[in-house]
Amino acid sequence: MAVQQADRIIMHLDMDYFFAAVEERRKPELKGRPVVVGADPKEGRGRGVVSTCNYEARKFGIRSGMPISRAWQLCPEAAYLPVDFTMYRDASEEIMNIARKHARKVEQVSIDEAYMDATDMGDYDKALRLAERIRQEIKNSQNLTCSIGIGPNKLVAKIATDLKKPDAITTIKPDEVRQKVWPLSVGKLLGVGKKTAGRLREMGIRTIGDLAASDVSMLMAELGTMGYEFHQMANGMDERPVEEYWEPKSISREVTFEKDVNDSNMLTEMLEQLSKEVHKEAIDSSYSFRTITLKIRFSDFETHTKSRTVNITNSYELMAETAKELSKPFLTGRKAIRLVGVKASNLVYNYGQKSVGEFMAQTHKESSHIPDNF
Ligand SMILES: [Mg+2]
Repeated sequence: MAVQQADRIIMHLDMDYFFAAVEERRKPELKGRPVVVGADPKEGRGRGVVSTCNYEARKFGIRSGMPISRAWQLCPEAAYLPVDFTMYRDASEEIMNIARKHARKVEQVSIDEAYMDATDMGDYDKALRLAERIRQEIKNSQNLTCSIGIGPNKLVAKIATDLKKPDAITTIKPDEVRQKVWPLSVGKLLGVGKKTAGRLREMGIRTIGDLAASDVSMLMAELGTMGYEFHQMANGMDERPVEEYWEPKSISREVTFEKDVNDSNMLTEMLEQLSKEVHKEAIDSSYSFRTITLKIRFSDFETHTKSRTVNITNSYELMAETAKELSKPFLTGRKAIRLVGVKASNLVYNYGQKSVGEFMAQTHKESSHIPDNF
């Protein structure tokens, strides 16, 4: 494979089953037991989802994103714990500080994941030793394990991380892409979901190697510009830089009702509550917003979203009123509502109020741990 971009060395750090690991750290008696962090299972009647689970729980088939009721069916004897955002955020901050101490450039991409640019190390052996130091320090000072992938870009580094977990460091050098990446399923590529994987399969493309060997114009005819991008990725090409600061694209909250709701007062109350939470997080993180989105899921899982863009604001009233107005067309009484969500996006950061450190710590609250399916 050809790496045409300037040679870089990128590392991808991913904490192992992060929420569950932080819970185990707090309660060592949980070690060795299946641990599920997420909604209250209510003895199988709970309606939310699994947020994270440890490896013992995975042995029972439990996965993040799975309905909590299903997890309960699979393993009622697991320890079920509620999500404690504050504790995970504090741990995340400590870990990212360790990464920043060692690597020149760190881009945190979620509460427990970051890319680091290690090009200045000069070669893969030195980058590996750097990764080893980071892994050790996280283990010694935080009592948590992580996995690190090293490669010529973000894409390959992340694939490397996923090759071996937990508590592992995996390197994929440019000339190893053929041997280590090509045998993997196309679903491992960024942006290839079940649907796209299905289409590719129909075209006889199963592995990343199949994709790399496919004719680009044929891929583009079938998939448009995505076809081109997938072909690039399959060949191990990815030029996205490691960017130190990122901003959340949105802040959102959603809730699944205990029982499907047909009562407009209850819905209104919930929309006010969700708006309050979204608004508080926006204000705490020094954001104003322009777009408010409502999400509604009916009892038959039919799902709608509706957005409205307003003049830049940080008004709670405007957020709540907009959410309520957007909900009106759905209150026909014909179908009960299972889930509602409120999202603020088109965020604008109010500079000058906080230090960069505070800014970083706060912006990371969003996106990774709040299921955002808008
Ligand atoms: Mg992780």
